Amino acid sequence: METYDFYKNPSILIQGAMESETEYLIGQLAQKACVKYGNWSFYTGFLGESKSPVIISRTFQGMVNAAAATTLALTHFSPRAVINQGIAGGHDSTFYRGDIVLGTRAVPMGAMIRPFAKKGEGICESDFTPLGIEVFRKSKGKTEKVLDFPCDDRLLAAAEHTAKDYLAAEEALMKKKAVCKRTRKIEAGVLGSADEWNNQFDRIVLLRERYKTTTEDMESAAVAQLCDSYGIPFLGIRIISNSIVTGEELDESVAEDCQRYVIRVVENVAGNFGTIK
Ligand code: SAH
Repeated sequence: METYDFYKNPSILIQGAMESETEYLIGQLAQKACVKYGNWSFYTGFLGESKSPVIISRTFQGMVNAAAATTLALTHFSPRAVINQGIAGGHDSTFYRGDIVLGTRAVPMGAMIRPFAKKGEGICESDFTPLGIEVFRKSKGKTEKVLDFPCDDRLLAAAEHTAKDYLAAEEALMKKKAVCKRTRKIEAGVLGSADEWNNQFDRIVLLRERYKTTTEDMESAAVAQLCDSYGIPFLGIRIISNSIVTGEELDESVAEDCQRYVIRVVENVAGNFGTIK
């Protein structure tokens, strides 16, 4: 373990935008080391009982920051999988604060095309359709236009498998927490991302109708786009920290619960993907 070369050997890249979304993970690292590229810090080390080699990346908030941090990580390290995780706003009224959404895909909610209107004709907010984004698919050697980016089936299956164990182990802890209304659920859904924070009920209904979103955040889709382009397995994991549709205000403390869950997912992935070293 002492001589593990994170530049050449495989690892799992785990990202979080904010300190509250990464500090628990960084604190759990064995043999922690930090390297900086540009403005971004990457913490290498070994995580969980499986002692899986991981890189924890603090991306900062927003699509551009997330894309920059991902590009740096993919350039310098050799991750075999990328997990983007953290807090999110709820779009689906069956998910409450503290519930965890496992991405089936990530969709850029800012990508839209609006129909022509002439001078003075005014603006209708709901007059748009989702716009395909050009992605260079390394595997095909050409660009394609896509509306969303997939999450990896095997990573998703590992995360779904982890859910039962996590819920059983953490239930007692969760019950003590006022932040969750009931026993939490961990289920698959669609992660919407944009440099937006939506607080209008009707707009959220509209976004959900057009993009089929379960949550909104400001990073997942940017990372998913790059992973799609490079052909690297990606999974987005988001815990609901606020939701207009269930009437729950922001509680950032759930970010730690998400990180605890991610550690279990990584342990499970280590098993499912076979020995890494
Ligand atoms: N105290 C922090 C809170 C920011 S929350 C601050 O003021 O900066 C914003 C971050 O959490 C983003 O990185 C985004 O990915 C995620 N997020 C949580 N809820 C969100 C919501 N309703 N809409 C968009 N992003 C949300």
